Amino acid sequence: MNGYDVVIGLEVHAQLLTESKVFCGCSTTSGLAPNTSTCPVCMGMPGALPVLNRKVVDYGIRLGLAVGSRIARTCVFARKNYFYPDLPKGYQITQYESPLCEGGSIDVETKEGIKKIGITRIHMEEDAGKTIHDETAPYSYVDYNRAGVPLLEIVSEPGMTDTKQAVAYLRELRQILMYLGICDGSMEEGSLRCDANVSVKKAGSSRYGTRTELKNMNSFRNVQKALEFEIERHIQILESGGRVEQETMLWNPSKGVTVPMRSKEESHDYRYFPEPDLVPVRIDDAWIEDVRSTLPELPAERRARFRKRYGLPAYDTGVLTQSRELADYYEACVGMLDAPKEISNWIMTEVMRALNEQGISITDFRVSPEMLTGLIALIGRGRISGSMAKEVFAEMASTGHSAEEIVSSRGVGQISDEETLKAVAGRIIDANPAEARKYRSGKTGLLGFFVGQVMKATQGEANPKLASRIVKELLEE
Ligand code: ADP
Ligand code: MG
Ligand code: ZN
Repeated sequence: MNGYDVVIGLEVHAQLLTESKVFCGCSTTSGLAPNTSTCPVCMGMPGALPVLNRKVVDYGIRLGLAVGSRIARTCVFARKNYFYPDLPKGYQITQYESPLCEGGSIDVETKEGIKKIGITRIHMEEDAGKTIHDETAPYSYVDYNRAGVPLLEIVSEPGMTDTKQAVAYLRELRQILMYLGICDGSMEEGSLRCDANVSVKKAGSSRYGTRTELKNMNSFRNVQKALEFEIERHIQILESGGRVEQETMLWNPSKGVTVPMRSKEESHDYRYFPEPDLVPVRIDDAWIEDVRSTLPELPAERRARFRKRYGLPAYDTGVLTQSRELADYYEACVGMLDAPKEISNWIMTEVMRALNEQGISITDFRVSPEMLTGLIALIGRGRISGSMAKEVFAEMASTGHSAEEIVSSRGVGQISDEETLKAVAGRIIDANPAEARKYRSGKTGLLGFFVGQVMKATQGEANPKLASRIVKELLEE
C-alpha cells in the first residue's frame, strides 16, 4: 500500500460447544439468569479444585488435526495473573509454554491464488465473566455465568499482507470450527472473537514495524474496517515522522475509529506459572487416532468435491458449502433428482431468499429436499412453467405444502391444451400483421416475439415449448 507493506496476525477465541464448563460441572447454556450457573470452582473459592473436562481436549485435538498442527503429547496449564472484576480467581487458567497444538496452516484464497496462513499455536483456556456497565447507575454488574466456559485460542503467524486476507482467513477458520461442530461461530454473540494485530513497514523492508492490537470487532465487516483504519493511522504517523506506540486499541464501530485502550502489556507482566492444581495432560496415539476417526469432511475438501462431482462453478460451491447443513441439503436433493446445476440455482436464489426472509437456517426449513426436487420435477415434466414454479415455491415455503398439492388445489398447471393455445396464437398473429409478414419473408427471429406475446396473454401459464410449436405452425401454414 503506497510504499508500505502491511503485516497482520490474528488471535481468535472460539467458545466451545461443550455442555459443561472447562474445570467444573456448571452448565454453559447461555441466557440463564445472571450468576445462576456458578459454583465454588468457577467462582474461585479458596480450596475448590478444578477438574479438566475431557471434551475440551477432544475439541482442541479436532481443530489441531483439521489444520495440520502437531498435537502435544504432554501439555500443561498455566496461570495468567491479573486483576479485573470479571475474573473471580484473580488469574485465568490458560496455557503458556506448553500449548495443546503447534504449527499447521489454513489455506485462503487471495487474488494471487491459494495462500497458506501459518498457525503458531492453539491452546485451551477459560473465559472470564461479563461486566455490564449501566451508564445511569454509579456501579456496574458482573455476571459469572460465562466464567470458566471453555475457549480455544488460535494464534496465527503474522502472515497476512492485506485486510482481505485477514477476513478470508477468519472466514475459513470459522467455517472449519463450525464444520467440526465445536463452535457455533457467532461473532455478534461473541462465541467467536477476533483480536487483530497489525503493523506496517517500508515496502520490501525485512524488519517488522511496531504493531498495535485491535479489539472489539464483532463482525467480518468491522474486522476489515478497523484494520483499514488502523493501517492508515500507522502510515500517517510514520509519514509525519512519528513512532507507532505498541498498544491495545479499541474499535469504535459507530464512529469508525480506533481509540487507545491500554499500553501493550508484556507477557512477563502476567507472572505466568504452571497451574499447580492441575496435572499435565498426557495425550497418547490412541486418543489422537480416536479423534481423527470422527473428523468430518472439511470445507475445502467439500468444495473441491462439489466442483468435481457435480460440475459446479466455484461460486456455486462456495455458497452451497457455507454450512455443513446446507451442503447436506444440496446433496440430499441431488440424490433424489439428477439435476445438479438446476438444484444449485434454486438453492442459491429462492431457498436462500426464503431462509433470509424467515430468519431461519436450512435445518428449520419447511421445504424438504423431497419437496424441492418434487417441484423441479414438475417443471421438467412441463406441468408448470418456471415463473409459476417460483410462486408455487413461495407458497411451499410459507405453508409447508408440497408442489403437487399446491398445483392441484389451485387448479393451476400449464396450459398444454393445443386448441386453447391455437386460439390465443391465432389472435396474436392477426393483431400483428406487419410482424407476421416479416416473419414469413424470412425474419424467423421474430418467433420469440410471438411466443412472448402468447406467454403474456396467458399470464405466463402457457407451456412455452408447445406455444412455440403452435406459433411456428400457424405462421408457416
Ligand atoms: P501477545 O500474546 O502478546 O499478543 P504474540 O507474540 O502471541 O503476542 O502475538 C500475537 C499476534 O500478533 C500473533 O497473531 C502474531 O502473528 C501477531 N504479530 C506479531 N508481531 C506482529 C507484527 N509486527 N505485525 C503484525 N502482527 C504481529
Ligand atoms: Mg495478544
Ligand atoms: Zn462452576
